[in-house]
Amino acid sequence: MSYRGRFAPSPTGRLHFGSLVAAVGSWLCARHAGGQWLLRVEDIDPPREVPGSAQSILAALPAFGLLADRPAMYQSERSAAYDVAFERLRAADLVFPCWCSRSDLAASGGMHRDGYCVAASDPLRPPAWRIRVPDIEIVFTDGLQGEQRQHLREAAGDFVIKRVEGFYAYQLACVVDDADQGITEVVRGHDLLDSTARQIWLQRCLGLTTPAYLHLPLALDDEGRKLSKSDGALPVDPMNPLPALRRALAFLDVDTSNISHDVDTLLQDALRHFDPSALPHCSERHA
Ligand code: GLU
Repeated sequence: MSYRGRFAPSPTGRLHFGSLVAAVGSWLCARHAGGQWLLRVEDIDPPREVPGSAQSILAALPAFGLLADRPAMYQSERSAAYDVAFERLRAADLVFPCWCSRSDLAASGGMHRDGYCVAASDPLRPPAWRIRVPDIEIVFTDGLQGEQRQHLREAAGDFVIKRVEGFYAYQLACVVDDADQGITEVVRGHDLLDSTARQIWLQRCLGLTTPAYLHLPLALDDEGRKLSKSDGALPVDPMNPLPALRRALAFLDVDTSNISHDVDTLLQDALRHFDPSALPHCSERHA
């Protein structure tokens, strides 16, 4: 199977340095492997969405020389695919409705385990839907961070796959979409390393292939906080892409010659020097 990677931004603000690093890192891995690079707008959480940000992120990427091989997939248009996956899990009795509130779960550290609900069912309120998580250890090898182990029952418990508001949770949507887009390697920020075991569990429950995973170091600001769109992190400037692109490549320890003065020459130069095994192995570093 030929390599297929992706960049999957959430439209919660303009493209910022942290997401540029994920975009550049996933693009380099895909192009280095001679594969395809796809886009997916993760707009399944309307309350968190910032209007106009999906368009602004998608419009910024070509300015940084990052061209996708296909039109972007939008999660807001994918509910039929999520419904099918959800029904498959329900038919196999792998999910259950849950009316527990946050305070109901406070005694167990916010964790829901063993399919045991504190709150009684309430036909007047919609439930959240959780997947049953057995006492299992998920083991996988991250392309950069090495072997990872997570006791899923302890670390995640019975996690939500469909929220009370009726939206599907990120974990389910991501797994269904990675499979439907034919993604062979997921390259993303280190903050999502912790989600990977849950995603692998969902893949197993749905009979989907598990892609390879590679988690890049997270970019921190001067105070050591994660650069995230929702915290109002400084957006990168698509009108003047070279400085941010150089910084993103330097962040990923990718050598480039200093003479490239347009984004395409710079990226091609970076690609010639690129070696995925030479990416920084740390979990975070200053931007
Ligand atoms: N949508 C997520 C974000 O913008 C990325 C999810 C993923 O790459 O799996 O942080």
